[in-house]
Amino acid sequence: MTADFAALAYLGASILFIMALRGLSSPRMARRGNIYGIAGMAIAVATTLAEPGVLGYDMILVALVAGGGIGTFAARRIQMAAMPQLVAAFHSLVGLAAVLVAIAAFYAPDAYGIGAPGAIKVASRIEMAIGAAIGAITFSGSIVAFAKLQELVTGAPLVFPGQHWLNLLLGLALVALGVDFAATQDTSAYLVMIALAFVLGVLLIVPIGGADMPVVVSMLNSYSGWAAAGIGFTLENTALIVTGALVGSSGAILSYIMCRAMNRSFVSVILGGFGVATATAVKAGERPVKAGSAEDAAFILKAAKTVIIIPGYGMAVAQAQHAVREMAKALAASGARVRYAIHPVAGRMPGHMNVLLAEANVPYEEVAELEDINNDFAQTDVAFVIGANDITNPAAKTDPKSPIYGMPILDVERARTVLFVKRSLAPGYAGIDNDLFYRPNTMMLFGDAKKVVEGILQAL
Ligand code: NDP
Repeated sequence: MTADFAALAYLGASILFIMALRGLSSPRMARRGNIYGIAGMAIAVATTLAEPGVLGYDMILVALVAGGGIGTFAARRIQMAAMPQLVAAFHSLVGLAAVLVAIAAFYAPDAYGIGAPGAIKVASRIEMAIGAAIGAITFSGSIVAFAKLQELVTGAPLVFPGQHWLNLLLGLALVALGVDFAATQDTSAYLVMIALAFVLGVLLIVPIGGADMPVVVSMLNSYSGWAAAGIGFTLENTALIVTGALVGSSGAILSYIMCRAMNRSFVSVILGGFGVATATAVKAGERPVKAGSAEDAAFILKAAKTVIIIPGYGMAVAQAQHAVREMAKALAASGARVRYAIHPVAGRMPGHMNVLLAEANVPYEEVAELEDINNDFAQTDVAFVIGANDITNPAAKTDPKSPIYGMPILDVERARTVLFVKRSLAPGYAGIDNDLFYRPNTMMLFGDAKKVVEGILQAL
């Protein structure tokens, strides 16, 4: 394959990756976006395999079969609620790959066309240093994030005095060693820098609390992209540079959007030690509430002309989306207008609810984002909150001391009747009580989300 043809193929792959990201920005186009992404990756891999630098296919085949097999197995087995830790685990591999490529390039620079042993080009040394350092931070940071999300270690933030100073010191040492390596090509400077980067990765993630962890996963996603881009320069592979930069920038933008939706400052998440606020749970269940049965709920829903369903994390846990869709169909058949309101951080990852509703074939036009539907609650007969909690909590507007203060919420309290489906009065992710449970226009429907909805369906 000529170099020109390869460059053209890589350009085509890069355009497909951009179209994939564009597609993934809306649920309606997400499937097509995924297909663009797959096509782009197939072109990129095929082009790389056809490069004259490839000397044999045996090892590559073994790696493709092993990697593809593990990936397929993991993707098929994984539960939706465990997606963040799977993503964290995958990022750790991207980071490790970057480190290994950088070390290989250091010991065999002639194989990479970046100079001879002991005489690597300065530009390549800079790229290798950056790629290896970010890769090592991504690797160990992602492992800690995985362990926290999988609850192998406590999700609580691990904080100690002088932590930020230690991190700063390590960061400065990394830069100094990287500069030293770029200037002198000193082997020990390079290896010590990589070792320190592994340590820094751990230290950066241990102080971050469970509540902020998904933001961190998205941030590590961004790091893994920059590590890949750095290595793309070393390998002089345009597709890797472009893909790495796309992953790096989209991950950073996503982290920022998530922070904004949760009313956390990006800097405070990165510095860690937040999430501590979740420990200050208010004691729930000490005030009287109005609880109803599935029959009561069916009675209220039957009389409603307008219903907005607000799904949250509990719907995902109970896998109640199909039952909810059936209930919505039954209500629509008897003349009600039924829509779904999606909060940007409902569930445990961005787009969590959209994916579940799409899985249950809920038509896209019935699904509305927070800003498009929030004004409609005042003219709505029933707000049907299923397995959601924090995203409806008015404390976000009224209590400056609340950990969720400032987060935009779905104004379900303005609906004529609020039906809350959850198992108890227990708090949600933020660990705080929800005043809505005790309001006169609220009826609690205690039980597993799927069972409650099936009960309502029967009563309807
Ligand atoms: P919450 O965590 O606030 O509430 C979920 C509720 O679901 C719980 O109160 C729980 O109550 C109930 N529940 C759990 N299992 C079941 C079940 N089987 N059947 C019925 N109910 C159940 O979730 P929300 O979706 O309202 O809010 C998301 C929270 O996660 C926010 O605080 C957000 O900041 C945070 N977050 C979201 C991220 C994202 O990207 N989406 C990222 C990071 C954090 P009970 O135990 O009584 O049943």
